[in-house]
Amino acid sequence: MDFSFSFIISFTMWKLIRPDAFNVFEDPRVSRSLPRYIGIVRGRKLAKFLISRSIGVDFDYTSSDEELWRIHSKRLEEYPKIEYEFDEGLSKLEEVERGRSFLDLKIELARRMMKSCHFCVRRCGVDRLEGQKGYCRCGTELNVSSFFAHMGEEPELVPSGTVFTCGCSMRCILCQNWEISQWKESGTTYSPREMVRVVTSLKNNGCRNLNMVGGDPTPYCWQWLQVMRGLDVNIATVWNSNSYYSQETAELLAGFVDLYLLDFKYGSNKHAEEISDAPMYWEAATRNHLMAKRQGELIIRVLVLPGHNDCCTRPILRWIAENLGVDTRVNLMFQYRPEWRAYERPELRRRLSKEEMEEALQIAKDSGLRNLVD
Ligand code: SF4
Repeated sequence: MDFSFSFIISFTMWKLIRPDAFNVFEDPRVSRSLPRYIGIVRGRKLAKFLISRSIGVDFDYTSSDEELWRIHSKRLEEYPKIEYEFDEGLSKLEEVERGRSFLDLKIELARRMMKSCHFCVRRCGVDRLEGQKGYCRCGTELNVSSFFAHMGEEPELVPSGTVFTCGCSMRCILCQNWEISQWKESGTTYSPREMVRVVTSLKNNGCRNLNMVGGDPTPYCWQWLQVMRGLDVNIATVWNSNSYYSQETAELLAGFVDLYLLDFKYGSNKHAEEISDAPMYWEAATRNHLMAKRQGELIIRVLVLPGHNDCCTRPILRWIAENLGVDTRVNLMFQYRPEWRAYERPELRRRLSKEEMEEALQIAKDSGLRNLVD
């Protein structure tokens, strides 16, 4: 397999392409909301997966699910103190006997979840280890559409080592990535060991982070955790998701994901069901955003949809301001274009009007949000 890239990211090159990305860490709004992420990018702090890999946990592979989750919850409670000690230089990375780290425990729990899949809210219950496929049609291997240094992400992420996997837990009729999410292309399978080499190359070519995206990364939680077991570079992990993952997945992500890059798509379950076939979206999204803020750092993407300011943009932005704080970093996105089956809903057959963009900005302002991505 050829892991050489067609790009070489020199400082000069990406400075030219994205000058806003070059000095973005000097922006106090960014440095205040993403201090740990910036520390990892600058090599001053350790990615969470390295810390979790260094924490010894005494567990037995024959124990019940309940017992393993109990041990996991206990360790998760202790995790912030352990991370603090690493951040302050009071602890050093240690080799833990293989199969006995906090990360190993997460991998075992994720493996068991594969047997009755409930990584996302849909909880299909299929045994993916036996070849059964659920709603997302993802299997046992990482199915990768592409990987590259993404120059189009938020400035603090660029250059972003983005890995696009196939399949998704939602079916948005307006999906901007539908060829990947709906398996129009089937991608290439990667073992965890092969993906370790990809991520290492991305890091060595100057990427600031590993950006796990799709489709959605949720169905591949087990595979990504296995990648972390073999990865020996300090790289910030970015979970770039639709927010439709289960409580159990949220707990596995804690102590693994450094930066949550979460979509907040709908302000009402009615529209989540009609447009994305995603029942209970509001409950999942609000729970996962709250957990993300507790367990890591957060950037929220709100794609403004034509005709949806009152029903979606307004309640979402208000909820963010009231529950996550007015300094939450929010990317209010105006680039919607009709894709895939968007024609099925009349209001989605066009781009945003100038008035709708101005109205969305006014809603953000009225909500008090003061850390919008420029
Ligand atoms: S990740 Fe896929 S198989 Fe698992 S519950 Fe979600 S949609 Fe179903």
